[in-house]
Amino acid sequence: MVALPLPTLPDAISILQSLSLDLRWTWSHEGDALWSYVNEELWERTHNPWVVLQGTPGERFKALACDRKFLDELAGFVAVRERYLKTPGWFRSSEHASRLGGVAYFSMEFGLGAALPLYAGGLGVLAGDFLKAASDLDVPIVGIGLLYQEGYFRQVLDASGAQQEFYPFNEPAAMPIEPVILPEGGWLRIPLEMPGRVVLLRVWQANVGRVKLYLLDSNDALNGPPDRGITAKLYGGGTETRLMQEIVLGIGGWRVVKALHPEIEVCHINEGHAAFAIIERARQQALKENIDFWDGLWATRAGNVFTTHTPVAAGFDRFPADLLRKYLPYVEGSIAGDSLTLADILALGRINPDDEDEQFNMAYLALRGSATCVGVSRLHGEFSRRIFQPLFPRWPTCEVPVGHITNGVHMPTWDSAEADRIWTEACGKERWRSDPGTEVANIAQVPDENLWAMRNKSRERLVHLARRHLATQLRERGRDAEAVHTADTALDPNILTIGFSRRFTEYKRTDILLRDLDRLGRILFNENRPVQIVTSGKAHPADTEGKDMIRSWINVARQPKFRQRVVFLEDYDIDLAQHLVQGVDVWINTPRRPWEACGTSGMKILVNGGL
Ligand SMILES: *Cc1c(COP(=O)(O)O)cnc(C)c1O
Repeated sequence: MVALPLPTLPDAISILQSLSLDLRWTWSHEGDALWSYVNEELWERTHNPWVVLQGTPGERFKALACDRKFLDELAGFVAVRERYLKTPGWFRSSEHASRLGGVAYFSMEFGLGAALPLYAGGLGVLAGDFLKAASDLDVPIVGIGLLYQEGYFRQVLDASGAQQEFYPFNEPAAMPIEPVILPEGGWLRIPLEMPGRVVLLRVWQANVGRVKLYLLDSNDALNGPPDRGITAKLYGGGTETRLMQEIVLGIGGWRVVKALHPEIEVCHINEGHAAFAIIERARQQALKENIDFWDGLWATRAGNVFTTHTPVAAGFDRFPADLLRKYLPYVEGSIAGDSLTLADILALGRINPDDEDEQFNMAYLALRGSATCVGVSRLHGEFSRRIFQPLFPRWPTCEVPVGHITNGVHMPTWDSAEADRIWTEACGKERWRSDPGTEVANIAQVPDENLWAMRNKSRERLVHLARRHLATQLRERGRDAEAVHTADTALDPNILTIGFSRRFTEYKRTDILLRDLDRLGRILFNENRPVQIVTSGKAHPADTEGKDMIRSWINVARQPKFRQRVVFLEDYDIDLAQHLVQGVDVWINTPRRPWEACGTSGMKILVNGGL
């Protein structure tokens, strides 16, 4: 066993370790009081049980082990968790359960919470919500992703409103994950062929309630220095590093599935990044059954599902053919009858297999290798059929085999404590975990006063949070005490609050409200119906236009005239998103059609009674 950096826990409370490694605490608040009791200060600061355990002195644990009240509460919490883990949920109790061995869900990003910063934006948050929902619904899914030493950047704005990016180091020991240990002992390492060498991939495990997420990382002492950095940075490095990451995710990931979950039958590729899993799966099938590659692909393709997220063809990942020749030569001749050549693989990712200048397109491989392909909203499905039309030259567009399943969100991650109470009283605790029934009728019965009280309370909480954040931002930018003091009067808990937070980029038109400042002023300062705005968001480090939009908001928020009614909060992440979607009354989304493939942030508002 790899030693985890924890104080030794007395036997009576040793269960705390596995409780702290179950990321269900990112959405279920059953254990909050318990963690707060262990170490109130650390809990308030981090809301991360794993950090609470690591930062609490040994004497405290000795005391807790003899604390009757604590032990009783712990036993109660453990019983609730056991019930959650063991009682069959919606899927396992359904007639379909026996027909599905399991699903492996591949994604380049997973956004489960601040404690595991392995995401950049919407794609990752969706993948995180997907795993949480699978756990609640008891669907047999495992996640496959990468463990980055540096996740996405943290945003700090300087005095002029310019975005600065910081990349904190993801210390694996400080994250709520554990190494996957083999039954015979030793860390599971997956060998992966790279030109002239074999790279070893370490396998980590995160527990998401009932669901396991496996994370691969190449930072092993046995690898050469360049290889140790393959999984260093999410979307970092150039084209070649990106290709290596996608080989690690797709090919390495499928090897993890084979090693740990032979029962798995469905390979779900969340965006084209992981499409090499299709090739590895077919190749292994061919080797096992002693058939040729194409029969292997034909046999396994029925179990592959591809979700495409990109609204424009230019968004797909593409690689020069020579890079594939460099990285995949070992597949050639690895199967009986020499039935697989590199030319074949290249053909799977091209419109015209013989066009040497055409780059290899991961989405084409994903589509050709999957029996089911879906976009993420009806409109996006429609556009995806047009984007993939070149692969089906004589087909009518409407018959291009791409459907859609609209994205969703995991409600318990986004609802506030008040909203949860109202929903529970009206519709019961199991409301999101079974087929929808009488929920609509039941929630309609809730008196207006109760809903209004919830809105007022949530808005007030957001206003206080915004003031605290703002004061910190001003202090850190070196502003004097008087300026910091202005944060106390920013926003008003009794005014209609409009909000949005998202990536700042041209197509999202995040500056649209600022195009006519006089008109904006008239709306915000209307005497009878005043309005205020809270916003937040990051721009991609290379997106100067997006960064300019952030600066425009900062410039408006800093004008004495607007200061009380417009606030920009730094460093948008899942934590901040939760506060925003719970607190605002009206969420605004202004993308250019059809560039927003789905857009999920607005869905998080509804459960909290916002519009
Ligand atoms: C929900 C969410 C997103 C995605 O929002 P969109 O409306 O789809 O852009 C991005 N980042 C965070 C932190 C989120 O919570």
